[in-house]
Amino acid sequence: MKQMETDVIVVAAGLSGLAASIAAAESGAHVITFEKSNTTGGAANMGMGPLAVGSPIQKAQMVNLTPGEAFRKHMFFTHYQVDARLVRDYYFKSGSTIEWLMEMGVEFVGAQRAFGADEATRPYADGEFTWHVVKPEGGGAPGPRAATTMTKAMTQRANDLGVTFMMETPVKKIIMEDGKAVGVIATTNDGEEIEARSKAVIICTGGFGDNPKMIQEETGFEFQKTIFNFAIPGMKGDGLHMAWEAGAGKTQPTMELMYQLPDNMNHFYIEGAFRQPCLWVNRLGRRFMPEDQIANTTFTGNAISKLPGKVAYAIFDSKMLKRWKKHGPDIASHIHPHDLYDGFEAEWERDLAAGYEPICQADTLEELAEKAGISVEGFLDQVEEYNADCDAGFDEIFEKNRHYMMPIEKGPFYCCKQYCGAYGSLGGILIDYKTRVMTNDYDVIPGLYSAGTDACNIFGDSYPFTLSGNTMGFCLNSGRIAGENAAEEAVEY
Ligand SMILES: Cc1cc2nc3c(=O)[nH]c(=O)nc-3n(C[C@H](O)[C@H](O)[C@H](O)COP(=O)(O)OP(=O)(O)OC[C@H]3O[C@@H](n4cnc5c(N)ncnc54)[C@H](O)[C@@H]3O)c2cc1C
Repeated sequence: MKQMETDVIVVAAGLSGLAASIAAAESGAHVITFEKSNTTGGAANMGMGPLAVGSPIQKAQMVNLTPGEAFRKHMFFTHYQVDARLVRDYYFKSGSTIEWLMEMGVEFVGAQRAFGADEATRPYADGEFTWHVVKPEGGGAPGPRAATTMTKAMTQRANDLGVTFMMETPVKKIIMEDGKAVGVIATTNDGEEIEARSKAVIICTGGFGDNPKMIQEETGFEFQKTIFNFAIPGMKGDGLHMAWEAGAGKTQPTMELMYQLPDNMNHFYIEGAFRQPCLWVNRLGRRFMPEDQIANTTFTGNAISKLPGKVAYAIFDSKMLKRWKKHGPDIASHIHPHDLYDGFEAEWERDLAAGYEPICQADTLEELAEKAGISVEGFLDQVEEYNADCDAGFDEIFEKNRHYMMPIEKGPFYCCKQYCGAYGSLGGILIDYKTRVMTNDYDVIPGLYSAGTDACNIFGDSYPFTLSGNTMGFCLNSGRIAGENAAEEAVEY
């Protein structure tokens, strides 16, 4: 077995692992970072940018939210069911983290709140401008994967600091001696085993979005049946299992819930085109929330998760489609194509012909309900009631904004099923505000740290979208905190 030795071992080179590696190396530690895949950056390569409060970008935009206000907002949102000290330290560090990234060469387009929704779609009217959207490679409009430039710059910085990356070398086990973490066992792709010794180990393996069995056991969702989450290859929950085996306390993991279509990236026009405040019903044909809220992907995901069959149905008619084609969507998102209704019809025809399961079209409402699998009777009753409210100009049931009260009357009618989705899993490893791993009795395990989504227990039951960019924000800042503290424990000055 190959032997290695260093001060700090970082398990994984995703977003939090990179932050931890850099912070530990900047604090004077020798660092070895083991990564399962052949690239760094993990799920962060799919995203657009992190949260921060008090950054130079915000100051330039005259965004005057303070870390203390963000902290209080976060704790109010989570009903104080999460570790206030950790949340506080995260927000107070986050502004400086943007400066830290900018010094590495990361550029930001600006600070935004999630989704450019109309003020009338209430969820984001109170959203804060915390989402620091990374400037994509080569410039242009930011979209999915913009944050790749950030992970590349961080990898470069880690290399410059002398961090040793062991790529395609997954860690299998934490070595524990006398109750202390003293290293790891890893295996190369060729099957060679490595025993690496260190004074501190930081676990950052990104959760279990790619592990259907664990998703079912821990959260009750059935992968690709009741949840269509992003399953970034390799996110198997390794870090959680290794930590629990080493004696870490367990917090209840959740899915970072939202809603999305199966294989959504290949049906992106359709997904965006239906994310409108039209008519949304459940399998019984009944409305279940004011549709002016559906831009809040977290709340809508929560609502769908409680419906029969965990599925919703978004429906519009040809008059609405005509209106959106002419005037643009009621809800424009930063994520979906900017030319939504230019690209919609081609994708719709293609997917209809291919039998893409979530969608159907019909000339009558009865036929639409039958094709979609909605109760015909319930749906016809609902449409009658809804159309009467539209005529009266007031939504008697949910008080949806009047602006969106458009009757469903002119065929062809369009329907798209809406399923729960998730960016991945959240939480599982109990940590304190210094990101030190604790036992179920809240005793610190010497030498063991965790950061990123493996240890992200700070959202309570729902992602706080009013403070957007929060997952990457927590990953970066918990990674930095872990790297600094692990180096302090490991390095004798
Ligand atoms: C499509 C998409 C868009 C997103 N957009 C945003 C956004 O705009 N803003 C935001 O805040 N968040 C966003 N997120 C969420 C964010 O990207 C993730 O929460 C974040 O990257 C998680 O960081 P992490 O360090 O915990 O894990 P990751 O960055 O996913 O890294 C985990 C790493 O662990 C490695 N690994 C796994 N097991 C082992 C092992 N045994 N040994 C060694 N290595 C291992 C993996 O290969 C991977 O590299 C998005 C997510 C997705 C999927």
